[in-house]
Amino acid sequence: MKYKLLKQYFGYDAFRDGQETLIDSILDGKDTVGIMPTGAGKSLCYQIPALMMDGITLVISPLISLMKDQVTALNQAGVHAAYLNSSLSYAQYCKALQCARSGQYKIIYVAPERLVTQEFMNFAMEADIAMVSVDEAHCVSQWGQDFRPSYLKIVEFVNLLPKRPVVSAFTATATTTVREDIIAILELVQPTVVSTGFDRPNLYFGVEQPRDRFTALLHHLEDCAGQSGIIYCLTRKNVEEVCLRLEQEGYPATRYHAGLTDRERQQNQEDFIYDVKPIMVATNAFGMGIDKSNVRFVIHYNMPKNIESYYQEAGRAGRDGEPARCILLYGGQDVITNQLFIENNRDNDELSDAELELVQERDRERLRKMTFYCFTNECLRTYILNYFGEYPDNYCGNCSNCQTKFDTIDITPMASAIMGCVRDCHERYGITVILDTVHGSKSAKIQQYHMDENPYYNSLPEVTIPRLRQIVNHLVLTGFLELTNSKYAVLRLTALSDSILNGDETLTMKLAEEYIPEKKERASKKKKARTIPANVDPELFEKLRELRMNLAKENKVAPYLIFS
Ligand code: ADP
Ligand code: MG
Repeated sequence: MKYKLLKQYFGYDAFRDGQETLIDSILDGKDTVGIMPTGAGKSLCYQIPALMMDGITLVISPLISLMKDQVTALNQAGVHAAYLNSSLSYAQYCKALQCARSGQYKIIYVAPERLVTQEFMNFAMEADIAMVSVDEAHCVSQWGQDFRPSYLKIVEFVNLLPKRPVVSAFTATATTTVREDIIAILELVQPTVVSTGFDRPNLYFGVEQPRDRFTALLHHLEDCAGQSGIIYCLTRKNVEEVCLRLEQEGYPATRYHAGLTDRERQQNQEDFIYDVKPIMVATNAFGMGIDKSNVRFVIHYNMPKNIESYYQEAGRAGRDGEPARCILLYGGQDVITNQLFIENNRDNDELSDAELELVQERDRERLRKMTFYCFTNECLRTYILNYFGEYPDNYCGNCSNCQTKFDTIDITPMASAIMGCVRDCHERYGITVILDTVHGSKSAKIQQYHMDENPYYNSLPEVTIPRLRQIVNHLVLTGFLELTNSKYAVLRLTALSDSILNGDETLTMKLAEEYIPEKKERASKKKKARTIPANVDPELFEKLRELRMNLAKENKVAPYLIFS
């Protein structure tokens, strides 16, 4: 039966990893938790049982757009489904409820805040509700990526029902805390928990710290010529800038962020999905519910706020299982931008001050783990999987760290100067001040704090700041130093620091040869040589390019479609 439904409604011949177990568990009447990465196919796991059970399935979903997409897809497949959320007028809402009452729908998507309203309760008390399925279930957890207080109403609702339905929950967040929270907060009864592996072996992971991000970006786009991909930026401003510059370079790019009108967003999204403009430059507002299988690269132009976001966004590459690359371009400013987002957290005005402080503390910790990802010399895939509680046996061989040749370097002198500096300023400053001090910076801040009087001032002038940063991060990662988890993270000594300061221990670290950027002139010459073919008059070439861009603009198509 379930195979027949899979074929009939969804057009697929076989189940993917985990799907069948989840479906069977639900059909057995057991509470069920499905933890699978984005794109694995969680929706099917509640939709197929919903079609097979007597009664109605309620699906709780956090986003109006997600509900719409899913209901549209179901309706097109011939399944009777509807959604109830704030996008409906009151009259529409009552009408939909009436239809629901008369048994017209098999699956109803509901926004969590609707659940315990009078109207909905009246309906629910009389309806035959077979299952409550919680999509994006990590929203119940304070430790989840986007906590929704209204998700806490779900259990209240379930407990009010005359007959307890099967409760199933689905998420792509695999950390143990979130998993435990889901089970506890939703009061699941001896649930079946299915967690498919989080590894996506077809994805290549890379981290770079380029001097010039845009040049690095162009470099990757050259390697991915003609392919579809997403470029994620932290801010709308960055999106606008990067998209414009890419268009000027002749790339078929479009953009997406919350500052655009609904129409623009819709249009740009379609241009991307139908490969009219196969390159999407976007903030993290883009992607939830997007199902494009041939995304060959996801480049993060900035470091995102945490590993959860990173893996989810990067995971939009290579959904078809073919090789795809995920590159993160790191710059120090990204940490600061993310810190500002955390300190100005306005996402949750429902939170009390104490709760907000807790959320901020959590976010700072996550940002730190994200930052360490950019500095670790270990296998990047292993780092990510460890974060989600998986411990692979081997290094992957398919990430930038596995493919880099590292030298083992004695960092004891640097470590001891950094620790000495921390000790002698009485553990009062953060990483930047400490590193500027040992490097001998003449900045106003260093003078203002009298750090130029610190005995370790200018003790490591020959080591570059990026390299010092790698070392300091390594020291924190390995517990030789610690960072306070406060608004201004301060470097502190730990129990392990003494052994270095006393000269009892030596420390080594795997470091790659340091990247020395090309001189500006040479870089620009190289670019010219790249874009203008050798046997073409450069002036004519420029004119043609301009013509092509204009034509493209007039006809609203990608420049590369005009002629090449
Ligand atoms: P998730 O919610 O886990 O991110 P979705 O449920 O949105 O993923 O599914 C992602 C895509 O995978 C959808 O296009 C879906 O149709 C497709 N899919 C799901 N199950 C299968 C299957 N068994 N075979 C092929 N494609 C599938
Ligand atoms: Mg989903």
